Amino acid sequence: MVTELTTVAELPKIDPVFGQVSYDNHEQIVFCHDKDTGLKAIIGIHNTVLGPALGGTRMWKYQNEWEALNDVLRLSRGMTYKSAISGLDLGGGKAVIIADSKKDKSPELFHAFGKFVHSLSGKYITAEDVGIDTPDMDLVHDVTPYVTGISESRGGSGNPSPVTAYGVYMGMKAAAKYKFGSDNLEGKKILVQGIGHVGETLVSHLAKEGALVQIADINEERLAEVSKQYGVSIYTGENLYSAEVDIYSPCALGATINDDTVHKIQAKVIAGAANNQLANENIHGQILKERGIVYAPDFLINAGGIINVYAEIAKYDKAESLRRTENIYNTTLEIFDYAEKNNLTNQKAAMAIAENRIEQRKKENTK
Ligand code: NAD
Repeated sequence: MVTELTTVAELPKIDPVFGQVSYDNHEQIVFCHDKDTGLKAIIGIHNTVLGPALGGTRMWKYQNEWEALNDVLRLSRGMTYKSAISGLDLGGGKAVIIADSKKDKSPELFHAFGKFVHSLSGKYITAEDVGIDTPDMDLVHDVTPYVTGISESRGGSGNPSPVTAYGVYMGMKAAAKYKFGSDNLEGKKILVQGIGHVGETLVSHLAKEGALVQIADINEERLAEVSKQYGVSIYTGENLYSAEVDIYSPCALGATINDDTVHKIQAKVIAGAANNQLANENIHGQILKERGIVYAPDFLINAGGIINVYAEIAKYDKAESLRRTENIYNTTLEIFDYAEKNNLTNQKAAMAIAENRIEQRKKENTK
């Protein structure tokens, strides 16, 4: 119960939602609270011109609500670009649940969340993201059909992470082809930061091809397991951003390319799964370009997962998902070419192509 009301004069001067730096013409932001389960979630719907806003739910122990709001705004915007560049008829959305995925999960919590998703009547469709597994989405599916990434036994496509990893692998090979003249990764020194659902499968592809893989994670147990399973080494240096490697693959959380790291990075190619790798896409994308580091836009090369879950709506099969995901290789090279011809950073080139597709559809829709 609110015990003391803040007077209007005392309220902070920054507008809390539309004034957020990450707010970018988002269509709808839904704050969800369920008293009985303690659920606190935010659903961000960025743009629905191309179709319903599809994007995963992240469960994370955010420090505060500002951090959660900022994350959902950035992530949902990223989904708009991801689906648009991948040729999918989907808009961009995302959800965050403010909670500890190790302690706070319960069927009741996911049912409560599912009811909020359902209340949007399909304008937002959810799936897995960091901290969320397929059984969690199955619980959401108990109360709403507007969920993808559910178990195969429920008619879903299962965990999208292996397909995401395959797409990242394709994007990385394309970036290697562009930078080194060959897409063969054998003997290339590759640092994978974050060996969770996506990172581990990526490591398996790289190890199979004979790349010299190093892994980094905050989870020591996972490091030991993955290192043993795929015969790859654990990064032991002081600062992984200054590691002398050919390729840096961010597969943990976003914004690892920032003011502190962008000048330290020694890798010649950056290609990873994490969403929103550039803390500031204008500043850090430009610095990478000036330093001759080839950056494979995250929303382009990590689209395998969304391509896979889209199959649940568009009713295409696994083979078609993989074919579309494999095509990330060609799209990545096309974007690099467009960027070069138009003197743009790779990030801006990919964004321009995605925005053109949305604008085009908007015109068609208003005819
Ligand atoms: P995950 O939670 O399974 O794995 C993340 C891993 O990163 C964990 O092992 C965690 O310990 C590690 N980690 C966290 N903070 C770290 C840090 N500071 N340094 C090193 N390691 C750290 O998540 P995931 O599903 O593998 O996704 C990884 C990234 O890819 C996320 O940014 C996610 O948004 C993005 N992504 C995932 C998919 C998908 O299909 N799962 C699709 C597109 C994008």
